[in-house]
Amino acid sequence: MFQEEEWVPISALAQYAFCPRRVVFIHTENLWADNQWTMEGKILHETADTQTQKTARGTRIVRSLRISDAENGIYGVADVVEFKRTDGMEFAQNRAEFLSDGVRLPLRDGLWFPIPVEFKRGKTRTDKTYEIQLCAQGLCLEKKFAVTIPFGFLYYGESGRRKRIDFTVSLRQNTCTLVEKVRQVLFSDTVPRPKYSKKCRQCSLVDLCLPQMGTSGSVERYIRNALASRETGNHLP
Ligand code: SF4
Repeated sequence: MFQEEEWVPISALAQYAFCPRRVVFIHTENLWADNQWTMEGKILHETADTQTQKTARGTRIVRSLRISDAENGIYGVADVVEFKRTDGMEFAQNRAEFLSDGVRLPLRDGLWFPIPVEFKRGKTRTDKTYEIQLCAQGLCLEKKFAVTIPFGFLYYGESGRRKRIDFTVSLRQNTCTLVEKVRQVLFSDTVPRPKYSKKCRQCSLVDLCLPQMGTSGSVERYIRNALASRETGNHLP
């Protein structure tokens, strides 16, 4: 069980896989800048966030659900959780698929089973980090509703398709392993060294990071240099 100050945001898992230095910039240093890719992602998530809750054909859709798991020390917001109705003959197929009766929801009749759906920009593809991020949401929902969730979906905005991701034992283990790696980098009081790569050309923080300069060191040194560069008008961190 982790103390709340040690908890890791689920959104940091995908960012860590992209670049550990970026995770520290965003979640420890509170630095942010947008570019084309972050704006596209924001618009896609705003679509997921702003639509109302609704129920149709035995599926209750809940958007922007706050979730957490104290045992694994993670928290976040699930873009969409689909609750599938499981009680009665009409929904026997759902019940068989989930191997569970589901849970009761406030102000709703019947039993419902939660399935996380994470929105991603771009076309349908295989991305292990996205699978881990989705699995982390599944772990949180399991704690929240005291059920075992067998799978979730990644929804890709450009193709408009979704891909089923099974929460296997190995995916669950990989999720816990990545959470620990992110926790270590977030609470280590150091900024990871930049590694200039083609990813940097897509990174919205490239002008703050200046990876070509090979800047590294402690948070304290980073902030001191950043303040000095502001005074002199340079952008060297
Ligand atoms: S510019 Fe490159 S090294 Fe710097 S945070 Fe972004 S991806 Fe990481």
